[in-house]
Amino acid sequence: MKKLSRRNFSSKMAIGAGGTLLAANLPLGLTQLKMDKKKLGVALVGLGNYSTDQLAPALQDTKNCYLAGIVTGTPQKEDVWAKKYNLPKGNIYNYENFDSIKDNDEIDVVYVVLPNAMHADFCIRAAKAGKHVICEKLMAVSVAECDQIIAACKEASVKLGVGYRLHSEPYTQQVKEFVKKKTYGDVTFVSAEAAYRSTGNPSQWRLNKELSGGGALLNMGVYAIQSAIYGTGENPISVSAQEFSTRPEYFKNTDETITAQLNFSSGAIANITTSHNFSANSMYVSGTNGWFKLQPANNYGPLSGSTSDGKKLDFPHESQQKLQMDDFAAHILYGTTNLAPGEMGKRDMIIVSAIYESIAKGGKTIALDIPENYGFST
Ligand code: NAD
Repeated sequence: MKKLSRRNFSSKMAIGAGGTLLAANLPLGLTQLKMDKKKLGVALVGLGNYSTDQLAPALQDTKNCYLAGIVTGTPQKEDVWAKKYNLPKGNIYNYENFDSIKDNDEIDVVYVVLPNAMHADFCIRAAKAGKHVICEKLMAVSVAECDQIIAACKEASVKLGVGYRLHSEPYTQQVKEFVKKKTYGDVTFVSAEAAYRSTGNPSQWRLNKELSGGGALLNMGVYAIQSAIYGTGENPISVSAQEFSTRPEYFKNTDETITAQLNFSSGAIANITTSHNFSANSMYVSGTNGWFKLQPANNYGPLSGSTSDGKKLDFPHESQQKLQMDDFAAHILYGTTNLAPGEMGKRDMIIVSAIYESIAKGGKTIALDIPENYGFST
């Protein structure tokens, strides 16, 4: 008999329940969409490495959505992608004519996969075109921009998700369940690391503050921040941070290595590390009654985990991007949980900003005023 994974089981249950429950309460447009479409059309904006190697291939296997169009600033990519993915000419846009996507009924969701500083502009334009939006992490380069994206999506009555793929992933879901059920007691400590060594072209956008908004903290540190939050099940109430720079000639205007300590109202503390100078990829959670850890904790998987009572976590591997996009499409189609709403992206940007503020003030503790559960899956 085919083994039913935890994830398959819960997503089937959720869609079944949501599908019947919500029809009566949906706005007319959404009800129509739900009746007409079993699969939503997704347009990828920005055809760099992540779109090319992860998202487009994953969209060939998704059940609730499919690759319907592209938006690219590189004309040579148009034909290549059209041939490879059998895309009609009418579903291919560039950055200038992108707004006319509003007239295209085959595109339901716009997925913005550009350098961070371009997210706000394209997410807001997508919302104004009446399309649901997935915004890659980091959501934007300031809290104000996150607010603008959230407001534009609200104004247009479209759904907004952030590309935090791990929330759709079974090891991460298991971590959240351990925390919720207090399987290992009350969480008292989380250690989370997310880092890799950057050696490529020093003029790449990730090392250019104008385009990235910052360095390792924005690119990888956000995974460690996320681990600290789902590892404790709480938003932090304060943070202090330190920065280390050993290759200033390479990291000219972006941060290389940052460590930060987060405090939570339960009394739990978290220590996070991020870097563009070395590799690290793990989370460890200690409770009053044992511990559990994931290593790796934040790459494309399969992840791996173990616990203090000798369990080895073992879930079947599926593309995280496929799971993530199917979950978001199910949220639109059937009203299931939005696992990574826009508010989650904004919350993380608030924490990122506080970490930079602490560093600028010599490691001073910065109080955070984030409401309980703000930015959690909804
Ligand atoms: P990339 O450098 O491979 O691609 C960037 C794309 O943006 C290219 O198609 C490029 O042509 C286009 N672009 C448009 N204007 C540009 C400009 N002024 N400078 C540079 N590129 C420009 O980057 P990527 O790895 O595909 O990352 C894109 C986004 O996806 C980022 O926000 C990144 O954080 C995010 N990302 C997320 C994950 C994840 O696991 N969720 C993984 C990788 C990347």
